[in-house]
This record gives sequence, structure tokens and C-alpha cells, in this order.
Amino acid sequence: MNTMNTCNFEYYNTYVKKNRGISNCYGEVGNEMHDYIENVYRGNITDTSDFNQKLHNKLLELEIMDLDFPSEVIKASFVKDMDHFTRNFNKLDGNFTLEKMFVTQIGEHYLLGYIDAIQVDEEDNTNIIDWKTSSKFTGSKLQHAGRQLVIYKLGLEKTSGIDIKVIKWCMLKYINVCWKLKNGNTKKKMVNRGKLIKEMKSTFEKEMIKSGMNEIEVGMILMTTEENNSFNDLPNVITDKYWLEDCFIEYEATDDVIKEAEDYVVNTIQEIESKNIHNESEWKPLDFEKEGTFYCNTLCSHRKTCKFIAQYNKENPFKRSF
Ligand code: SF4
Repeated sequence: MNTMNTCNFEYYNTYVKKNRGISNCYGEVGNEMHDYIENVYRGNITDTSDFNQKLHNKLLELEIMDLDFPSEVIKASFVKDMDHFTRNFNKLDGNFTLEKMFVTQIGEHYLLGYIDAIQVDEEDNTNIIDWKTSSKFTGSKLQHAGRQLVIYKLGLEKTSGIDIKVIKWCMLKYINVCWKLKNGNTKKKMVNRGKLIKEMKSTFEKEMIKSGMNEIEVGMILMTTEENNSFNDLPNVITDKYWLEDCFIEYEATDDVIKEAEDYVVNTIQEIESKNIHNESEWKPLDFEKEGTFYCNTLCSHRKTCKFIAQYNKENPFKRSF
């Protein structure tokens, strides 16, 4: 459904013509992370010390496969985030059911899906968790990503009768730096894992100076820890006060949000069914002027064969966005 709403022509290629296309760097790394995490929760992996190596093997494989990131800078930032995640992986508490299939009815339609993880936590609440290697979502992207969780919740509640307490994403690229405020509340700052020390540098610096450490010593410590992106190498004055937590973003399934997701499903299916599968010209390409070409040039599985993006790139060599 998201494919249809992104680009009709991509949908046509994938689901009508059944062209397999090619993967992309984000999808490949995402799958690697998912598979590994799934195996941990299934009990197939108990020692996670090779997680980081698996990531780097995958990155090497991408280079060999010529699956490039949009730029070296973007790649370096993504790799730093994932590097930190795989070095500091924490298995969550609770009982987990993974890749759970569900079938549910929305309008006249039956939907089949697979839920990444269903967690029954220590308080006996049932939660749905989806691991994400993408950047955080805001505005319409949040709604776009949220529909998937909402549909999981509806599907599971309707078919099993289980009440889902929380639906949330585990954002692999981010981490929460936490500390207690004077009023006793906990403050959390969400930062990119790869820039953990950099983003907290001035706070940590003030804290160390306040504790009586001299400026040169503080400067040296921050330089080393920033280079290694290593929170644990900071002095006790920091590690006693601040702690790290995996980054979860909860999504609230209000009545309006549920209605919007259901309408999205029904409207998308209607749009698909209104098109003639024997007439290719009915399946329009993405609007490059409005949407840019990042998706087409980096993510779309038909980017190497699509006549529309090839033509656009040829006619607009300087507009090509990655
Ligand atoms: S490259 Fe762009 S226009 Fe072509 S199928 Fe993919 S998303 Fe659509």
C-alpha cells in the first residue's frame, strides 16, 4: 500500500508485472539487523559479541554488490549510529513472540501482515514493537509510519482479543541520555548514537568543571571519548549521574488515527482496483518536481530499469538528488 502511494509505476512493476528489482543499502542493513535481533529473541543467539562484526560484514558485502549510500557523509553517519547500536545491544525483558502473522478485516478487505515483535512485559502488558533503522519521523512521515503499527494493533486485537497496551518503534539509530532533575523527574535527551558524546559535550563539560576538574583534563577526556564515542570512558561524575536507554517512540492510536489508517487501506485498495492492469500508461511515475528524486535514485527497487527516472536524470543532470 505504501508502494502504491509512493509511486503507481513502482507498484505496477512490483505487483502487477512481478519484476523483482534490486534492493538498496538501507533495506539490506535493516534486514541484517532484524534477522540478528530476531535470532536473539528466539534464543538462537545468546552471545551478541559478534553483532558488530555482522554489521561490518554486511557493509562490505554492500560495497561488493555496488549498493551505494547516497553519499560518503551520509554513509559515515549511518554506520556510526549502527556501529554504536551493535556494540551496545541490550535484550529487552519480557516474553516475545516474533514475526507473528495476522489476518484482519478492514472494510470489505482482508489484510495479512507480520508483526516484528509482540512483547508481554513484566507487568503483563502486551506491546507491539517494530525495530526501525530509519531516521526519526516527524509530521506527515510520523502518520505514514504510524499506520503500520495501528494496523498491527487492530489486526491483533480483532483476531486474538488481546488488548494491546503500547505500540512503539525501537529507533536503532538513536539513544536516550537520561538524568534526574532537581524536582525528581527524569529528563531524556534523544541523540544520534554516533554523535552521543558530541551532542552532550557542553553539558558534560560544564558538569566536569563544576565538580572541580581542570579545563585541560576535561578537554582531553572529551576529545578521547568523542573520538571513541564511548560513554563508559567518561569519569564517574558523569556516569553516576547520567545513564543511557534504548530509544523507543510510542505512537498513540486515537480513534481519529485508527479511522485515518482504515480509510488509507480502503482508499488505496480502491485506487489499485480502479486501474487497468493491461494498460501501463495508467500507472503514473512519481512526481519528480514535487517529491525530488532521492527515493527514485536511492531506494526504489526499479531505479536501474525505470524509464521515467532515467529520462529525468538525463534531462536534469544538475537536479539529481540523492
Ligand atoms: S524510479 Fe521513481 S518513478 Fe521509477 S518506478 Fe521507481 S519510484 Fe517510480
